[in-house]
Amino acid sequence: MHCPFCGHEETKVIDSRLAGEGRQVRRRRECGGCHERFTTFESPELVMPRLIKRDDTREPFDEVKLRNGIVRALEKRPVSSETIEEIVSRITHRLQAEGEQEVSARIVGEMVMEALQAVDEVAYVRFASVYRSFQDVTEFQDEIHRLQQITGDTSRRNQMSLLPDDKK
Ligand SMILES: [Zn+2]
Repeated sequence: MHCPFCGHEETKVIDSRLAGEGRQVRRRRECGGCHERFTTFESPELVMPRLIKRDDTREPFDEVKLRNGIVRALEKRPVSSETIEEIVSRITHRLQAEGEQEVSARIVGEMVMEALQAVDEVAYVRFASVYRSFQDVTEFQDEIHRLQQITGDTSRRNQMSLLPDDKK
């Protein structure tokens, strides 16, 4: 790392310790040119990839949209909110762990299908049948909204009754 004071290329680490409850490494460095000392903090960079949509446009990964898509598929199904959170965090971690800058929205959809299949067959079929024709969770959600508007199913009461039992 270059010296922030004089730009000299060689700095040496004179002390290194854990910081931020072990989530960071704090390093004390000394410049080989001007001998100034400075501190750096290193932490792992966990960045969510951007999603490549079917029409090749990109959009930021959105955990809320992911969760909503899963919740929709599991409406009135005997699956707890805790399980939904587990699915969301498992998918999120998997995407972070892969460390790609961009990932096809289709891949995320397949992860959702795989997870739903393991917890509830009905939700899986529900998600897969709509999803396969739309290729992405966002479009799936838009379609659900559209269908609700067509059927006039937009009242507060109906919205509430669509929530899983443990959310009522
Ligand atoms: Zn320097």
